[in-house]
Amino acid sequence: GAGDVHAEVVVLGSGPGGYTAAFRAADLGKKVVLIEKDSSLGGVCLNVGCIPSKALLHGAKVITEAEEMAHFGVKFDTPEVDLDALRGWKESVVNQLTGGLQGLAKARKVQVVNGYGTFTGPKMIEVDNDGAKSTVSFDQCIIAAGSEPVTLPFIPHDDERVIDSTGALELKDIPERLLVLGGGIIGLEMATVYDALGSQVTIVEFMDQIIPGADKDIVKPLHKRIEGRYEAILTKTKVTAVEATKKGMKVTMEGPDGETVDTFDKVLVSVGRRPNGAKINAAAAGVAVDERGFIAVDKQQRTGQPHIFAIGDVVGQPMLAHKAVHEGKVAAEVAAGHKRFFDARVIPSVAYTDPEVAWVGMTETQAKAEGVKIGKGVFPWAASGRSLSLGRSEGITKLIFDEHERVIGAGIVGPNAGDLIAEVALAIEMGSDAVDLGHTIHPHPTLSETVNFAAEMFEGTITDLM
Ligand code: FAD
Repeated sequence: GAGDVHAEVVVLGSGPGGYTAAFRAADLGKKVVLIEKDSSLGGVCLNVGCIPSKALLHGAKVITEAEEMAHFGVKFDTPEVDLDALRGWKESVVNQLTGGLQGLAKARKVQVVNGYGTFTGPKMIEVDNDGAKSTVSFDQCIIAAGSEPVTLPFIPHDDERVIDSTGALELKDIPERLLVLGGGIIGLEMATVYDALGSQVTIVEFMDQIIPGADKDIVKPLHKRIEGRYEAILTKTKVTAVEATKKGMKVTMEGPDGETVDTFDKVLVSVGRRPNGAKINAAAAGVAVDERGFIAVDKQQRTGQPHIFAIGDVVGQPMLAHKAVHEGKVAAEVAAGHKRFFDARVIPSVAYTDPEVAWVGMTETQAKAEGVKIGKGVFPWAASGRSLSLGRSEGITKLIFDEHERVIGAGIVGPNAGDLIAEVALAIEMGSDAVDLGHTIHPHPTLSETVNFAAEMFEGTITDLM
């Protein structure tokens, strides 16, 4: 057809993995085509993920801080929330970033092809743009097709009172009673937003704690705080049925105390994300996709086909933007003939809740399960001048050390924990030990000092399996 093009490197999907790979490959001299089904670039992260959620979380933070200032002698009126304006502001943040990507693509002569891409052969992708079909032939390909929210068979997802994270970010209204199904990062962030905006929130989590990937002691301060604000946090509980009724969504749950039935105005389903690998006809290119939709890759991000790479959510956990970006750079550099490997030691995780929960590297739970000897340094923020100045004292900074006193992990909970965890990620990559962290002069008074203090708290705490 008329629109048929050839690319030295074609990138399928324009999320953080895809646009990073496309730009890097172009910078290294490749003729790049970027295929994207949505009208705006940036993928889940920019359009319906990381960025809009953080914009709304900022609004939530201002609201709750204003509320809490009453304890410190400053009283504000109850905030008046103009949902249209708040939504508009969130959209303006998103548009600024996605528009910026268009400009960056143009500047690098990356050709953006709109439409849904599927493989038709080992070096060919067909793009369907609302029925108009074209082809992109390629020498090398980087698959960055991302993921989508998991749906559950017993939930009427077509009822508008059942929403996923995308629906939650649309901010259509503020439900009086909101059930958040799944106590992971995404569900809890959305809960933080809706709680601040006035919803009564109930969280249901199947595991015995919210944010199951993080250590219990690090999650506890968050649990304690939201327990006081939310209607209920139900752990070890599973939803077994959701029925649409006139009065609301009737939800049946099975918990430690047996079966309960309750009715909510809205149900947010946030039980995980599923990779898009099964929807791109990868078999036509000889690329294997497992039964869950993931594409296996080697340390250079290559699939079983040496000229086809895969990156980001579609290759596996953790499904995080910074992992996708890092993998995108590796794939593009390898495609351009550079010797590069994915050899990051650690990938930090952050829940941007209030307080934030962040962890990196080895957790205590993992050390126990794997029989790894560790020591730890724990600093409670109740002794941090800066934390107390924020009117908050619940934070904890915990560092985990190996037998050689090298830092191998950390868990931090408290305001801005997500920013603080980066220092520990660097320390782990650098092979730093407790003395390095303890002797580095940190600015006072900052929350960053808590990393310094936690290292100082560690002293001969290596034990057999603590
Ligand atoms: P995606 O961002 O999923 O992008 C894939 C792109 O490919 C999409 O644009 C899609 O339209 C396109 N595509 C797919 N198939 C095709 C096809 N066949 N043809 C054409 N185009 C196609 N991560 C963080 O690190 N920090 C956060 O704070 C954070 N917050 C989040 C909040 C929410 C509510 C959600 C849902 C996710 C959040 N994430 C966060 C996760 C993050 O969004 C993902 O890890 C990240 O977007 C993955 O990037 P990716 O490049 O692999 O794919």
